[in-house]
Amino acid sequence: MHYDVIVIGGGPAGLMAAGQAAGNGAHVLLLEKMEKPARKLRITGKGRCNVTNAKPWEAFSAHVFPNARFFKAAFYNFPNTALIDFFAQHGLALAAERGDRVYPASQDAWDVAGTLIQWVQQMGVEIRCRAGVLQLEQAGNRLEAATVKQGDSTVTLTASAFVVATGGLSYPATGSTGDGFRFARDTGHAIVPQRPSLVGVHAAHHHPALCGLTLRNIQLALLIDGSVLGEEFGELLFNETGLEGPVVLRLSRKATDAFLQHKKVALALNLKPALPAPQLRQRLFRELAENRHGTVEAFLRKLMPAQLIPAFADAAGLVPGRQAAELRQAAIDKTVSLLQCWKMPVTGVQGYERAVITAGGVSLDDIDHKTMRSRKVENLFFAGEVIDLDADTGGYNLQIAFSTGYLAGKMAAQYVSQKN
Ligand SMILES: Cc1cc2nc3c(=O)[nH]c(=O)nc-3n(C[C@H](O)[C@H](O)[C@H](O)COP(=O)(O)OP(=O)(O)OC[C@H]3O[C@@H](n4cnc5c(N)ncnc54)[C@H](O)[C@@H]3O)c2cc1C
Repeated sequence: MHYDVIVIGGGPAGLMAAGQAAGNGAHVLLLEKMEKPARKLRITGKGRCNVTNAKPWEAFSAHVFPNARFFKAAFYNFPNTALIDFFAQHGLALAAERGDRVYPASQDAWDVAGTLIQWVQQMGVEIRCRAGVLQLEQAGNRLEAATVKQGDSTVTLTASAFVVATGGLSYPATGSTGDGFRFARDTGHAIVPQRPSLVGVHAAHHHPALCGLTLRNIQLALLIDGSVLGEEFGELLFNETGLEGPVVLRLSRKATDAFLQHKKVALALNLKPALPAPQLRQRLFRELAENRHGTVEAFLRKLMPAQLIPAFADAAGLVPGRQAAELRQAAIDKTVSLLQCWKMPVTGVQGYERAVITAGGVSLDDIDHKTMRSRKVENLFFAGEVIDLDADTGGYNLQIAFSTGYLAGKMAAQYVSQKN
C-alpha cells in the first residue's frame, strides 16, 4: 500500500501533522513505536497538561530559543488562540491560569491526548502503534520508503511525503529516544548538538537531609564565572543530588550552555528576597533578643524550615546545639549574608531522564520556516521537538509542537497534491 503522507511519531506534533495532512486531502499513515500514541503528552504539566500559553506573539516569542523568528510563520498559521478554539470545537474546554498558562478545564492531560487521537481518527488517519521506524530510504533528493519494525517482522512502507515528528531525547521511557536526529543526519541534515534543558542541577556539598524539601518565594541567581546571568523568583526543590523546581528549570538552559563551554557555574539562593539587608539584620537582632536563652537551632527555626537548618548551619559555621546568646558579631554577619546569598557550586546538570526538553536538533538552516520542509530532501518535513527549537516552561513547548505539526501536515498534503 502506498500512502500520500507517512507521519513518524505520534506525539502532539505528529498527531497534529497527521490530522492536518488528512484534513487537506491526503491519505495518511501515522507510525508510533510505543503501544499507544502521546505517552509524553499524558504526563505533561504534572498530569494536567499546560497545553499552551495565551500570550500574544510579541511576549510569547521572548520565551522561544534559539531563534523565535524561525517559529513566527508556524505560530501565525496556527496560533495559541486557534489551538484553544480547536480543543473547544472538539469538546475540550481550556482555561488560562496564572502567567497565561492554559490547561484543560478538566485538569487532565489524558483528555488532551484523547481529544487529539479521536480527531485524528475522525480525519481518517490510519494509526499504527508498536511500529517503530528503523530507517528512511532515500533516492536522490527524495525519500521513497520507511523501514518499519512491527512486532517480529520488518516491513517497507512507501509514501509521497514524510513528516518526522519523533521528539527529542528527554524522558526516553515515553518513546522519545532521538531516532529522528539519526534519520535527519542520515539524509544530509546538520544537527545542532543536543543537550538536556529545563532540567535540575547537581550541587556540590549537597546535604542528603535536604532531599524532598520545597522552598517557596525564594530568589535564585545563576552565576557564571562569578557574574550574575539570570535571576528567578518562585519555588525551589531539593532532590537526591541537587536542585530542581521551576526556578532552577528556568535557569537551566544558560547553565547547561555554560557547562558545555567549561565555565564555572553556581547558584546563589536568597531565602529572604523581600527584605532589604538592613531590615533583615534588625530582624535577626530582634529574634536573638527574644531567644537569648534558646539554642542556635531555635533561633534559626524562626528564619527557615527545620529541614534546612543542618545544611545552613554547616555553611554558616554555626553549631545548632549551642546557646544563641553565644553568637558573636561575625557569626551574625555571616548569617545575614548567607540568608540572602547562599552560594552553591553546581557540578553538572541532570540527564535526559529528568529533562523536560531537549535543546538542539535538526538545524533551522536546513528547514524552510514557511513550510517546515527540509532544504535537503524535497518530500521531507519536520515538526516538534526534533527541530532545533525549544522554549521556557509555561506551555510554549507544546505550542511549538502543535504549530509546527499543523504547518508540516498542511504543507506535506499540499506538496503531494501538487505532485499528483
Ligand atoms: C515531564 C514533562 C512535562 C512536560 N510538560 C509540559 C507542559 O506542561 N507544557 C508544555 O508546553 N510542554 C511540556 N513538556 C514538553 C512537551 O512534552 C514536548 O515539548 C512535546 O511532547 C514535544 O512533542 P513532539 O510531538 O515533538 O515529541 P514527543 O511528544 O516526544 O513525541 C514523539 C513521538 O514519536 C515516537 N517515536 C520516536 N521515535 C520513533 C520511531 N522511530 N518510529 C515511530 N515513532 C517514534 C515516540 O514514541 C513519541 O510518541 C513536558 C515534557 C516532559 C518530559
